[in-house]
Amino acid sequence: VMVEAAYRHYGIHARYVNCEVAAGQVTSAVAGAWAMGWVGFNCSLPHKVAVLENLVGLSESAEIIGAVNCAVRADNEFIGHNTDGKGFLTSLQTVADPGGASIVLYGAGGAARAVAVELALAGAAEIVVVNRDRGRGQELVDLIDRRTPARARLEQWQPAHPVPAAADVVVNATSVGLFPDVGASPDLDYATLRAGQVVADVIFNPVSTRLLRAAEEAGCVPLDGRGMLVNQAVEGIRLWTGVEVDAGVMSGVLDGALR
Ligand code: NDP
Repeated sequence: VMVEAAYRHYGIHARYVNCEVAAGQVTSAVAGAWAMGWVGFNCSLPHKVAVLENLVGLSESAEIIGAVNCAVRADNEFIGHNTDGKGFLTSLQTVADPGGASIVLYGAGGAARAVAVELALAGAAEIVVVNRDRGRGQELVDLIDRRTPARARLEQWQPAHPVPAAADVVVNATSVGLFPDVGASPDLDYATLRAGQVVADVIFNPVSTRLLRAAEEAGCVPLDGRGMLVNQAVEGIRLWTGVEVDAGVMSGVLDGALR
């Protein structure tokens, strides 16, 4: 609904349709999209990694992240991009400058990888990855260290994890708190949140997560997941059509849909 609202607003002669693609059908789906002349597509879970087999060209960050959520038609093939992290970065920049910042990132899945790589490429100084699964967390730390200018280190997620005091930006990039489990929140020692820290959640449903409410009570600057979602769509529409969409055109419609 939000992408089509932008198309209508800017008179873009295009449609944005949702297609359910079964596991094992990604290759056929990409070939079909190409044959039908699509200018591109978004690609969601669980296909963000599997789709790589069907794409030769990748943007810099998609190649580093190792996942694609947006494909764009070029002369002979679709080029894979990752707009999740860029959407998060644009959203964060409304409240803080990532340049030189110290980031604490909870989670090491697809969303966390995208967020970490974009923040690192945007000049974040340090990224502390906190994850339950040590192997997955270490993989992300190694990726940041190897492929970006930022420093990274791993903290194993302990119960009631204390938020590092030096963090300028705290990001929940796990799925904890996602609808319908709206009573859940990341297992943190909330007393260690520091007033003035930016606390961002990738979850956009619900908009006001338990984490963000606790952050607000602690005097932090809360940032909900809608900005990431809307701004990845802004980026996708720019890549597909060349039109620079005002995020506000989509955010009102998104709010209505989420309500
Ligand atoms: P993945 O399945 O790839 O990763 C999930 C992550 O959450 C892992 O790091 C996992 O840790 C962690 N996790 C899950 N449950 C718990 C728990 N109980 N305690 C601690 N950690 C936990 O998912 P994605 O990264 O793709 O998605 C994560 C969230 O991001 C989803 O809710 C999704 O909706 C949201 N998202 C939002 C976007 C937006 O535009 N706002 C865009 C993309 C995603 P472990 O490795 O230990 O299992």
